[in-house]
Amino acid sequence: MRKLSCKYCGNKEFYVLSVNETLCKCGMRLKKFSDYHTERDAKWEQLFRKEQKRKAELILKISLLTREIDGCLDNRDEPRFQELTEELKTCWRALHIGRNHSEKV
Ligand SMILES: [Zn+2]
Repeated sequence: MRKLSCKYCGNKEFYVLSVNETLCKCGMRLKKFSDYHTERDAKWEQLFRKEQKRKAELILKISLLTREIDGCLDNRDEPRFQELTEELKTCWRALHIGRNHSEKV
């Protein structure tokens, strides 16, 4: 059986009032299954947040790289330009893989 916790406060201890009703420490009466949070939901939420953070970091890196690449073009610094475009490609790939993985259609 999956561990359940209160949707409102996250508490895992309940007072059982009747077969379909429990009372949480926060004072909420939990009647429906949707009043609870399952462990799986919490885990999924955590993964989702991690993924959002990863994407935000990649997007930031991409914008910094793009700016630096522009600078290389101005200074005609070709070795650095090559290096940065490779890094940029890697970032785009990482961003794409993440998106395809989480938003399968
Ligand atoms: Zn509660």
